[in-house]
Parts: sequence; C-alpha cells; structure tokens
Amino acid sequence: MFTLKADSPLQSTWAQTMSLLENCSNMKQLKEIHAQMIKTETATEPKLATKLLTLCTSPHFGDLPYAQRVFNGITRPNTFMWNAIIRAYSNSKEPELAFLLYQQMLSSSVPHNSYTFPFLLKACRNLSAMGEALQIHGLVIKLGFGSDVFALNALLHVYALCGDIYYARQLFDNIPVRDVVSWNIMIDGYIKSGDVKTAYGVFLDMPLKNVVSWTSLISGLVEAGQSVEALSLCYEMQNAGFELDGIAIASLLTACANLGALDQGRWLHFYVLNNGVDVDRVIGCALVNMYLKCGDMEEALRVFGKLKSDQKDVYVWTAMIDGFAIHGLGVEALEWFNRMQREGIRPNSITFTAVLRACSYAGLVGEGKELFESMTSLYNLIPSIEHYGCMVDLLGRAGLLDEAKELIKKMPMKPNAVIWGALLKACWIHRDFLVGSQIGAHLVEVDSDHSGRYIQLATIFAAEGKWKEAAEVRLKMKNLGVSIPPGKSSITVNGVVHEFLAGQQDHPQMEKIHLKLKQIAERLRRDEGYEPSTKDLLLDLENEEKETAMAQHSEKLAIAFGLINTKPGMTIRVIKNLRVCEDCHVVAKLISQIYCRGIIMRDRVRFHHFRNGNCSCKDYW
Ligand code: ZN
Ligand code: ZN
Repeated sequence: MFTLKADSPLQSTWAQTMSLLENCSNMKQLKEIHAQMIKTETATEPKLATKLLTLCTSPHFGDLPYAQRVFNGITRPNTFMWNAIIRAYSNSKEPELAFLLYQQMLSSSVPHNSYTFPFLLKACRNLSAMGEALQIHGLVIKLGFGSDVFALNALLHVYALCGDIYYARQLFDNIPVRDVVSWNIMIDGYIKSGDVKTAYGVFLDMPLKNVVSWTSLISGLVEAGQSVEALSLCYEMQNAGFELDGIAIASLLTACANLGALDQGRWLHFYVLNNGVDVDRVIGCALVNMYLKCGDMEEALRVFGKLKSDQKDVYVWTAMIDGFAIHGLGVEALEWFNRMQREGIRPNSITFTAVLRACSYAGLVGEGKELFESMTSLYNLIPSIEHYGCMVDLLGRAGLLDEAKELIKKMPMKPNAVIWGALLKACWIHRDFLVGSQIGAHLVEVDSDHSGRYIQLATIFAAEGKWKEAAEVRLKMKNLGVSIPPGKSSITVNGVVHEFLAGQQDHPQMEKIHLKLKQIAERLRRDEGYEPSTKDLLLDLENEEKETAMAQHSEKLAIAFGLINTKPGMTIRVIKNLRVCEDCHVVAKLISQIYCRGIIMRDRVRFHHFRNGNCSCKDYW
C-alpha cells in the first residue's frame, strides 16, 4: 500500500513521502515508509527526516529505540531534532537519558531555543532532580532566556513539584510578566506542599483566574481535608461566571462524601445531568461514592445501575461493596462481591479489604475466614497488614480472642499499632481487662503521639477500678503534650453545612440548642429512666462536669440543631469525625423512639441507622 515509484522525479517523491508521513498512524506504516525513504535516498533530507523523527517519538504510537536509531542515522541533527529526542526521553521511563543527550547536544555546538529547557526540566520533574534543575536555571539566565515565560514556567513547575517552595516563590516574584499558567503552577505547588493557606493567598492575588486556577484550589482544599471551604469556593467560582469542569466536580463530590453533605451532592449530580458533563468512570465512581458515604443507598444503586458496563471497573464495584460494609449490610456486600465476579471483574486487594470489613461489621465469621483463605488459594493475592487487621477485628469482635492472638503470632509481618488496636478493642468489648491493659501499655509506648491509645488504656484501667493508674496515663499524655482531636459533627439544613465542635458555644442558635438538649435529657430521664453513662469520659472531671461535658458532645449538639430546624418526621443526618461514644449512641436510640425521628449517623468507622429505639449496628461497633 505504501509504495513509492523509485523512478518518479525527486520533487514528486518528496511530496508523496511527506504526504504518506502526514497520514501515518502507527509504527508498522512508519517503518514501511522509512524503508522506502532509504531506498529512494530521501531519508536524510532534513524536512522528511525531521517529520520521521517527530513521528517516531510520538507519545501515541512512537517507539523510542527506533527513534534513537533514526536519530543516530542523521549526520548533523538540528535544534528541532535534538529537542524532539530530548523530549521523548524526558517522557520515557528513563528520563535521566535526556540529560545525557543534552550533554551531547552541547558538545555538538548546536544552538538552544526556548523549547530545549522545558523538555529538560520535564525530566527534572519526573526525577525530582532539584540539583539539575538549579543548574538549568543558571543556564537559562546565562543563555539569555531569563525573560522567556515558557522556560520560566517550566522551572517554576519543577521547584513547585519538588516541594521547594522557597525557590518557587523567589522565581515567581522575579518573573517579569507572569501569565495565568505561572499563577496556576504556584497554586498547585503550594497546595501539593500542604500549605493551603498560602495557596489561597496566591489565588486571591491572581489578577486573572481561569477554570484551572479555581479547580486547582478546590481539589487542593479537598485533599487537605478542608471540604467546607472547597464547597464554598465552588459557589464563588460560579458567581464569578465559571462553569465547573469534570475535575472540580469529582473533587467536590469527594468533599460532599467527606462531609456527608447529601444536599450539595445531589445538587452536583443535578449539575452534571443538566450541563452535559460526561459521566465518565471518575465522575461515575465519585457519584456512587458520594451517595454511599452520605447514607443514600438507593440513589447509589440507581447511579450504579445507569453506568455503562465499561464504566463499571473494579473501583466502582469495590465502592459499592464498601458502601454495604459501612452500613452493616454484610450479606449484601457478599452478594455484590459474587455478582461482580459473575460480570467478569476480578477483585483486587482493596476489594478484599472492603468485603472482609463487611464480614467483620456484620459478624459473618465463617464467611470472613473463608474469604481470607481464598485470597492466596484462589486469587493469588498476598494478604497485606490491612487484611490481617480486618481478620483480627472480625475474630476479636466475635469474642474469639485466642484465635485472634494466634493469627497475630502467625502473621508474616510485624504487627503494627492498628493490629494491636483491633485486639485491644476486642478485649474492651469482651471485658478481658488483663490482656487489654497489657496491649494498651504496649500501644502507648509504640504509638505515643496518638491520643486514642492513652484514652483506651485509661478507660480499661477505669473499668477495672484502677483509678490511680488511669489518672497516671492521663497525666503522661498531658505531660507529653499529646492533645485529643476535638469531636466534630456536621449536619446540613436547607443546603447549608453546620459544623459543631464538642463544647462549642459560638453558634448563633446555641441558646436554643442548649435549651433543647435540656428538654431532651429531662424527657429521656422521665420516659425512659435514662442516666448519662460517663464511663467513656476522661477521669479527672467531677461527675457533674462529666455530665455537662457529655451533654455537649458534638453529635448531641448537631442532633438537637436538627430537631429544631427540620420538620417533624424528617430523617436527621449527622456526620462525626470520631467514633460515636456509648452515651451518644444510647441517646440517639432513645431520641429516634421518643421523637419519632430516623437518625442516620456516620462516625469515623461506619453508619448507624437509628430507628424506633434501635440501631442498625445492633450495638456492635
Ligand atoms: Zn458522645
Ligand atoms: Zn449503632
């Protein structure tokens, strides 16, 4: 098909070859054209050779070793050709070879142009090679490219991505004419180094913002766990006249999932449907995940059902299985695990974490053990420490403490704090205080920055009546400066997310909330004989203080706020950052009965659906 007439005039051979090259779309065709070029002695003609080389280094179908051979065959490659081969190496698995070629380019005395540096800097970025980047920076200045925004942006990108914000800032401040790309790189580089505040400052200073700048900041905020801020930026972005792109939407859906902000999540879904945003794998998975984490299983199922089969990859199936797990629906999780395989999707190790977790939360001991075994025997997957953690949790919760201890002994890796933590929790649930206090003491040593470890140990001592030891643990924690993360609960009413911190006083409705909590406590005492259980609380408080502190737990503030601000009978949805405490769990059950309200609470670990005085976790969490 690709034949050149060897006897045609040179001019027409050149034109035909160029046309063939321009229409070439794969390496097989390219090699045929190259063979013809050698036959017709046009392979060294500069324009054709350049075109040939560009195609060999194409990111779509190129072949780098072949490109290198073509390059070696060119007697005196020009700047464009050097740039093409340097670029190909900087994008390859061996970006360091780009530097080697650059040295050869220097020794051949071929002049640079403004494209040479960005390609080299790309190699620096891929290798996180700060030293080389600094040398190139010197050359950029020396060779007169110090005001070329293209080269400077490439440098900025390297500094920002290598996490060297000092150099990035210095360079940024000295760029004579910054374009929108320079600003976006700065926002992205700050955010990546975890400094969201400075990124926000750069963003505010930006004279012209584009979709990329808004999206970078939104994604960064979500990654940094500042979901409320990300959502409010989403509204600002639209007020400024920008449409949300797919990346921003996926990030914002994650923010909604983190906050349990169902209303905003629904709104984003509506936005996707009404603005023709393509529901690709990423958005499909983000939507399913958002509905699951916001406790709306029905909608999650509906979205999943509408995904095309090629969009249902292992991640979205795993998200569904994990969704069933956190809602305590172990049997459904297992059904979906089997269904996924019937549809030809092979589970990966994250799927196993989800399905083992499902077995653990639902107390499906036999099924969990079988699945764990099958990882090696059927699926050729080596269980990781996370899978062992799930198994210790599963056995421990079911009261099989000896079996859990045996499994820890047999583990091929050293048990970490998570494994010991799971066993300690089991000791606490099943009142094995002796072993519990031994593990607790070990955990306080190996995981000394984690406030939860001290609290677990103090709680175990207290449960045994060892008050002195409990107080000592508490004192040790204080002396080491380990602080307890504040309990935080959020609730969305009329599209606005309200966050409550334990003991918070400055909410505009705080007086009403306290009054409501007082009424609730009186009603629970009168109708149900409820007395606050204070055993989960720290021990250096007097009993009365404990009761007050308990009454101001963030989830209670959020529920009271929900009762005041939503219509009777409406389900109250609360998201808490920590595990729900025993007392709040009891109170939520009682409120669900006395006030005839469904309460859906997501804590750090799972969902609790409170209805008619019961919880879906069957008090097993
Ligand atoms: Zn509580
Ligand atoms: Zn529960």
